[in-house]
Amino acid sequence: MPGCVFCRIAAKEIASEIVHEDARCVAFRDINKQAPVHVLIIPREHLVNLAEADEGDRDLLGHLLVVARKVAEAEGVAESGFRVVINSNADAGQSVDHLHLHVLGGRVMRWPPG
Ligand code: AMP
Repeated sequence: MPGCVFCRIAAKEIASEIVHEDARCVAFRDINKQAPVHVLIIPREHLVNLAEADEGDRDLLGHLLVVARKVAEAEGVAESGFRVVINSNADAGQSVDHLHLHVLGGRVMRWPPG
């Protein structure tokens, strides 16, 4: 999608600290981390958000969650605990209109989220 910052990160037109990539997704460190571990996982395909996803995206969404688990393990927070967040649309605070999973860990998380 022209002008999409995450499409440009996936295409390596914008630099990022990539921690995982495969045919369907890229995982990289958030530029403004909210926890000691804060990784974003994006599909290479431009999907706006979870509100726009449907049955046809089932395999991709499952893959993204499996990658979230792998990232948590690689970052050393799988056992201590981690949180996966998908902000979708304005009330959730979505600021980049390209579906992304936040993988957060390395500190105690509070509930409910702000
Ligand atoms: P959200 O608010 O859920 O849409 O999350 C968007 C996230 O993308 C924020 O946590 C930003 O810090 C992060 N972000 C935006 N631009 C970049 C970038 N160029 N590299 C890494 N993370 C970014």
